[in-house]
Amino acid sequence: MIRMSGKDSFKVLEKIFKPKNKSNKIKGYTIKYGNIVENGEIVDEVLVSYFKAPKSYTTEDMCEINSHGGNIIVRKILELCLQNGAELAEPGEFTKRAFLNGRIDLLQAESVIDVIHAKSEREAKTGIKQLEGILSKKIAEIKQNILDVMVNIEVAIDYPEYDVDEVTHQQIMEMLDQVEEKLAKLEKSFDNGKLIKDGIKTAIIGKPNAGKSSLLNAILKEERAIVTEYEGTTRDTIEEFVTIHGIPLKIIDTAGIRQAKDEVEKIGIAKSKEIAKEADLIIAILDSTKEITHEDREILELAKSKNTIIVLNKIDLKSILKSDNMQLQKVTKHIINLSALNGIGLENLYDEICKLFQLNEINLDNETVITNIRHKNLISKAIENVKKTKETIKNEMPLDIVAIFIKEVLEDLGNITGELVSEDIINEIFAKFCLGK
Ligand code: GDP
Repeated sequence: MIRMSGKDSFKVLEKIFKPKNKSNKIKGYTIKYGNIVENGEIVDEVLVSYFKAPKSYTTEDMCEINSHGGNIIVRKILELCLQNGAELAEPGEFTKRAFLNGRIDLLQAESVIDVIHAKSEREAKTGIKQLEGILSKKIAEIKQNILDVMVNIEVAIDYPEYDVDEVTHQQIMEMLDQVEEKLAKLEKSFDNGKLIKDGIKTAIIGKPNAGKSSLLNAILKEERAIVTEYEGTTRDTIEEFVTIHGIPLKIIDTAGIRQAKDEVEKIGIAKSKEIAKEADLIIAILDSTKEITHEDREILELAKSKNTIIVLNKIDLKSILKSDNMQLQKVTKHIINLSALNGIGLENLYDEICKLFQLNEINLDNETVITNIRHKNLISKAIENVKKTKETIKNEMPLDIVAIFIKEVLEDLGNITGELVSEDIINEIFAKFCLGK
């Protein structure tokens, strides 16, 4: 598909497209059937969709030529467009125009990238919510709160004879506290947002023969799992990104876990320790047909300080280790029975992960989550500036000084939605897009 946007896009189209039905004038949200022609010769039979300004993605006149596809034909049509006055778009240019023309704010534009690159349903959903403007509304609300503070201050500055300083100071403090609280909540949501975006970094640890590779294979074999492999951060590891029932997991696999068939090669405690260090989630797997061994205890010790789920494996056999075991209970309340060999109990494992990371739908739907590090940094900066503002008030600085810091907060928030953002940053953001978006 070839997409054109801009006030001359229909003119360019007219030169190369001969619709079958010539009589109708151009209407928005319609599709015409016809041929792309060059010197009277048909290049391809196409459908063209029309979007009339301002009701289009970019708010400009837009059209989309749907050809039969294939490199040669699409390239040919693109060339014809260029020869007849069109210019090649830069990466992200359509979305950039939508932003510059004021249809969406910067935050929404950035979420377009998130939606496109989403690796899991949950991530896509978060992106869509941001695209809908949920986060933008939240930021707008906080900005309004700050503006209210400004109004109070300006009244005090403009009418000093009323001696409103006392009252105003206290009022302003309270308002700033509220703003800080809202911002802090957003800042904190980043942790959750990051998990959704990057996947929960998961380490499967356990002594040799506990069933690590069997469990990993069982997870990866899940019908709907989409597996993408990344090079891991530790030497010899790869990370496998899987999404199971919308739960994004990034499982740290050592050069070993999946392949280690050979007894000698099996992943030992030392390696487990290394893997566990960088994990958000530890799945500590124990062989339920055996008593807890010294090695198990070392594994459990590792797991104590982390988000851990204990898996009692091999329940298809006669198990002697039960979930009410006190030694296990001391480590975590999240203990499940499972058979990696035949997949029994996997659902419970997923449920437990959802619980541990509060990933259920209700949480996601009600929370405004930030996933973008640029937004996170600006929010942190805004919080700093709110703190500074409060400091100046505490130190009874003149209100015009206080106002300076408040303006900084407004600026930080404005940078998120893009009202105040510099051209460099805008270019940097849109450079991340792919062509045609
Ligand atoms: P690892 O060394 O921790 O990776 O353990 P493996 O996954 O290689 O499993 C060790 C052995 O236990 C293999 O022979 C597996 O087939 C077996 N095994 C693993 N999980 C189960 C299970 O749930 N039930 C039974 N019966 N055997 C299992």
